[in-house]
Amino acid sequence: MRPETLYQLFKPLDTLKGIGPRLKNKLKYLIGENVIDLLWHLPTDVINRAYCPNVVEAEKGRIVTFNLIVNKHLPSRRKNMPYKVHCSDETSDIDLIWFNARRDYLEELLPIGKEIIVSGKIDVYKNTKQIIHPDYIFPAEESKKLPKFEPVYRLTQGVSNKVIRRNVLEILNLIPDIQEWNDKNLLKKMNWPSFNEAIKNVHYPGDSLDISHDNLSRQRLAYDELLANQISLSLISKNFSKIQGHSIKSNSSSISRIINQLPFELTNSQKMCVDEITDDMTQPERMLRLLQGDVGSGKTIVAFLTLMHAVNAKKQCAFMAPTELLASQHYETLKNYCSVNDVSLKIITGKTRNAEKEEIYSELRNGNLDIVIGTHALFQEKVVFKDLGFVVIDEQHRFGVHQRLSLTSKNQKKPPDILLMTATPIPRTLELTAYGSMSVSKIVEKPHGIQIIETAAKPITNVGKTIKSLEKIFKNNGKAYWVCPLIEESEKIDLAAAEDRYLSLKDVYGDNVLLIHGRIPSEEREKIMSEFKFGNKRILVATTVIEVGIDVPEATVMIIEHAERFGLSQLHQLRGRVGRSINKSSCLLLYQTPLGINAKKRIETLRETNDGFVIAEEDLILRGAGEILGTRQSGFHIFKIANLNTDRNLLELANKNANYIVSKGLLDGGSSAENFKLLLHLFNQDRAIKYLEAG
Ligand code: ADP
Ligand code: MG
Repeated sequence: MRPETLYQLFKPLDTLKGIGPRLKNKLKYLIGENVIDLLWHLPTDVINRAYCPNVVEAEKGRIVTFNLIVNKHLPSRRKNMPYKVHCSDETSDIDLIWFNARRDYLEELLPIGKEIIVSGKIDVYKNTKQIIHPDYIFPAEESKKLPKFEPVYRLTQGVSNKVIRRNVLEILNLIPDIQEWNDKNLLKKMNWPSFNEAIKNVHYPGDSLDISHDNLSRQRLAYDELLANQISLSLISKNFSKIQGHSIKSNSSSISRIINQLPFELTNSQKMCVDEITDDMTQPERMLRLLQGDVGSGKTIVAFLTLMHAVNAKKQCAFMAPTELLASQHYETLKNYCSVNDVSLKIITGKTRNAEKEEIYSELRNGNLDIVIGTHALFQEKVVFKDLGFVVIDEQHRFGVHQRLSLTSKNQKKPPDILLMTATPIPRTLELTAYGSMSVSKIVEKPHGIQIIETAAKPITNVGKTIKSLEKIFKNNGKAYWVCPLIEESEKIDLAAAEDRYLSLKDVYGDNVLLIHGRIPSEEREKIMSEFKFGNKRILVATTVIEVGIDVPEATVMIIEHAERFGLSQLHQLRGRVGRSINKSSCLLLYQTPLGINAKKRIETLRETNDGFVIAEEDLILRGAGEILGTRQSGFHIFKIANLNTDRNLLELANKNANYIVSKGLLDGGSSAENFKLLLHLFNQDRAIKYLEAG
């Protein structure tokens, strides 16, 4: 339960005096729903009103504060004409200007002869200095009311800086005295203020240095945010490993025998990963492990061998894929290996008929089926296993964190071991924030050595030549992908573009061309894919449905049309569909001119490197963390204060300290525990709190 002292902060925004339902709605996307979200909305700039020249000296374009005398009112004579107020100081005249002004209001505010303080941006019109719509006007005797430094907040349509400011100030009064959770020595070493001071400081920036990320108050809050995140992840891992799991032991000679049956030699990296994972499965604690490897590094076969390890130990297994296309690809890959080894394997997809489904369910229930492959739908249904020991989840970043957790907490006294696989190389920084201290196995080499995929970029006007160049595919027995983009907003138009491209390729290459996109029913799609993979069709025109996982080793050419519309990691994933055999592969990026700066950078990066990790780091810089992790689908935490590009050292520190805090049981009781809970509540880590309270 949330401590009572924080109630006020977690009320909806419209409980503040200055915010009604309409304003609340406007703020929803920019800021969030609750009072505290506005507190985390930090200023991005600061206006300095300390520049107080006389009128003659004042430089055009700057924000100034003047001490003036009101001389004369010149009300507007016609609509659209401004209302002017002549003023002066000892050096010169100046006009204050309003459009659509209310005369009585201005006459009361600015009586003739009155000494006033005016602040605003200085302008020059026909040799006279002026301020249009001054920001502040006070009688001279109230000059103290003028804020010297005024924070500037990110805004949204219909919400002014003043409104945000007023409400932030109200909230600052609502914050209770927060007990310190950080170690005294840490605060001293880093020179950090208390939480209450820090949050006040960041909303009262003295100058532009206070806005920068290395301002001490900001650093402290960023650290707190990261610490809350890391404690939460650390608790989840701890909770996981506390759980009694299956100790899955198999005899290693049978795995060796299966390895010898493979049509290729495993890479050293693959071997090491298989060993690491099966070792971990053997332990009595529950396993939660991530298998990470760039596209084409050969994760599927590693997964297969670990599945065999579990089956060998008489455990049932599930293999979960993000799409039906991938599920059936895995099924096709594993089918033969399984049947040779007398292992039963079935697949459930949307098209599986009910009678067949029922049969599979009953086989799972009575233990007659070793491995079932499916999409996440597999787990939403009431599937009961006799003895589920091991679950592999492919391309896990496509599934949400919560989906994963609910899946794994389902079922049973003895939950299964879990292996997550991802092809998206995750920069170390994100790895920590997304997975905390989860164990990771990495495939660091590719099966065919480092396959440099020759990557070129050309304006889309070269499309005719490109079509012609595909002839080479026929000479060297290769296959080609031609990818057309699909963005949701104009799905129809884009689909038409893919269909047009299909037709223009068909004009030249006739029946050798196939078309695949998301609108085609999945059953049909699978047919097309397998025609491309196993048959002798040479060219596949596709939307991004082929982005993830598809494996056709003969494919050596990748054409990406409108490459400027794709993100960097997405381009890397698409390119990873080729370069999957010893044959030389190439990738051509066709782009629409003129190229924006970021698009240009993406294309350059892709041409410069084939290294997924370098690309992921670059992507992180270009797009920010949320996008890479696919925040929207996956529910990953985006940080409100911390910035993963600039605060990496803080993240490392938070990771270290969080592990210490959790492993030393500092959260389990005593006053420190209460303080840490406060931290977790403040940064909305309710999930972690639940673990704590469940014991
Ligand atoms: P990904 O890691 O992208 O999921 P896959 O598991 O689809 O990669 O493997 C890519 C291709 O490489 C597949 O065709 C697979 O059969 C092949 N492959 C995997 N391991 C090896 C290996 N050690 N030697 C040769 N080919 C391999
Ligand atoms: Mg894969």
